[in-house]
Amino acid sequence: MNNMTPNREDYLKLILELGGDQIKISNKQIVSGLNISAASVSEMITKLVKEGLVEHTPYQGVQLTLAGLTSASALIRRHRLWEVFLVEHLNYTWNEVHDDAEVLEHVTSEKLAAQLEAYLHHPAYCPHGGVIPKENEPIQEIKRSTLTSYPIGTNIRIARVLDEKELLDYLVSLDLKIHEEYTIVEVADYEGPVTIQNDTKTLAVSYKAASTIFVDQL
Ligand SMILES: [Zn+2]
Repeated sequence: MNNMTPNREDYLKLILELGGDQIKISNKQIVSGLNISAASVSEMITKLVKEGLVEHTPYQGVQLTLAGLTSASALIRRHRLWEVFLVEHLNYTWNEVHDDAEVLEHVTSEKLAAQLEAYLHHPAYCPHGGVIPKENEPIQEIKRSTLTSYPIGTNIRIARVLDEKELLDYLVSLDLKIHEEYTIVEVADYEGPVTIQNDTKTLAVSYKAASTIFVDQL
């Protein structure tokens, strides 16, 4: 997150990223995700409910309405299109794009987004493997299991990782990249590292990181 005061779109996007199109998200999760006070969160939730963007169930949390989902999708669309642009045309690496994409998404009209999309030849995915929603369409992220859900011996391809700076810096330090294929060779007990291997490298991925890396089984 940047240092600006989060606006309603940032709330909607975070709620979506936490899974709020399908499940209820607690105020507490939003407080830690946006790094702001519980009072500000309650205040904004009240506004979002009034505007029909989320539904609130006392003691359980909020869930996006279709209008909320569409609005969050539009922001994610702009964010991910800029990420593709920065990586493909300005030589950013996948751990560097977040902050600038975060700023650009807020100053991008739908016309600019549409032109950018055409210029980039209608990319389907961002550099982190996230789906780029089409104009005026709610996002449909592909449901996948994480690296922690498969046993030793499984062949996998890295399909998507959370767009989170610390995680991405860690993956760069390990030299793990999207679309690479590996075999799971060791899963340590008690949430220890998951070791993956291919012809060129062997990587021990921390359990925390492995639980945010989504894979395709080969
Ligand atoms: Zn991304």
